[in-house]
Amino acid sequence: MRITFYGAAQTTTGSMHLVEANGKRILLDCGLYQGHRKEAFEKNRNLPVDPKTIDYVILSHAHIDHSGNLPQLVRQGFRGRVFARQSTTDLCDVMLRDSCFLQKRDLEYINKRRRREGKKLFEPLYDERDVDALMQLFTPIHMHDPREISRGITLEFFNAGHILGSALVQLDIRSDHGRNHRLLFSGDLGQPDQPILRHYEYPAGADILLIESTYADRYHPSADDVELRLEHYLKYIDRHNSKLLVPAFSVGRTQQIVYYLNKIRERGKFPREVKVYIDSPLSQKATMIYAKHREVYNDEARAMLAAGKDPLEFPGMTFVGSPEESMALNDTPGPMIIIAASGMCEGGRVLHHLKHCVGDEDNIILIVGFQAENTLGRRVVEKRNPLRILGEEVELKARVEVINALSAHADRAGLKDWLDEVKDNVRHAFAVHGEPEKVSAMVEMLKESGIPSAVAPMPGQTYRFE
Ligand SMILES: [Zn+2]
Ligand SMILES: [Zn+2]
Repeated sequence: MRITFYGAAQTTTGSMHLVEANGKRILLDCGLYQGHRKEAFEKNRNLPVDPKTIDYVILSHAHIDHSGNLPQLVRQGFRGRVFARQSTTDLCDVMLRDSCFLQKRDLEYINKRRRREGKKLFEPLYDERDVDALMQLFTPIHMHDPREISRGITLEFFNAGHILGSALVQLDIRSDHGRNHRLLFSGDLGQPDQPILRHYEYPAGADILLIESTYADRYHPSADDVELRLEHYLKYIDRHNSKLLVPAFSVGRTQQIVYYLNKIRERGKFPREVKVYIDSPLSQKATMIYAKHREVYNDEARAMLAAGKDPLEFPGMTFVGSPEESMALNDTPGPMIIIAASGMCEGGRVLHHLKHCVGDEDNIILIVGFQAENTLGRRVVEKRNPLRILGEEVELKARVEVINALSAHADRAGLKDWLDEVKDNVRHAFAVHGEPEKVSAMVEMLKESGIPSAVAPMPGQTYRFE
């Protein structure tokens, strides 16, 4: 058997690893590479494998950096099956269509300029027809339900505790000649004890390990005080009749915040006057999918359900529909919370809210996720005045608060905890899904834990196992 690391090798995005065994070619993930626009476009368009030769894709979870290039795989001739949990399939259906929409919007802007300059116009990587075709190929695999997907190749999913539907991928490969292998792929590993979702599991017995390294060199702050801090901000905006604006990713982070707000309400600490608006069509769809898949909830969320309460909805909370309704919030007086996408303020409805909110010192902008360099979100965190939003310069006077504890990824302590439980039989470990310094830190951790061979593969590198 052989493994070739095509994506998320020495980088975080574009997850894609090819496993070749028993005459089959299997992709683990098929994600979009995200980065500088032109470079990303080239990388994503030029697939490193011939899609017609791929038999199966096994999808760890629905995040675009893991699933986002699947429609293009289909467009270029892939006709095999995609194995994923049902919740991942449901999320892909909305997230990949959203990806079509974002590409289209992005290209309209770029092509306008190119048309003026007489240059050739760019085409999107894929469109909704490709997503339609792809959705036909999804084949659900249930948790803890081993399935022989091909002769001598058995697939089993375990909880990864990262986002709804996220899975650890275990492949048992029995060979007619040579040794048998058990491969374990972490996908993205969640943070232990996060709201709604269950804790990641520790499947035993793998001899080959692919482990993510996103935060292999850092520790997250404790999440203990998230609820208390939110409660404090609620009181503040209630007193000032002002707005609390939370830029948040539609899938995962938005549901976490809603859950915390709900818990504050359960404790009777939610100010009566404060309204909650979830302002992103994708957030609404994703929340509905979370509500549909309650079988994945953790004990605390299940207890709420058993008590007749919906963990992700409460009185006073509204999903904002049309863009007009969204704009109307600009002129609606507080106190209110607006949770809007995108999480790094690079697009979406959060932009007009931000433009409207930042000038008032009574408002709070609450940052709850990682803000990459060169994003508007990062400039807000760094309080770089004035801010340029939607083509206009605005003065930042609002309070800016940051909660760093809500990462969906395990930190160094979480990764170490997981590794210690799964490592016993591991002979070969590969650090993936991390920038060069992160995968190096992971390789160190792997070696320290006594694994005989640990490397951070380079893109395109192949490893052979007898
Ligand atoms: Zn992820
Ligand atoms: Zn990822």
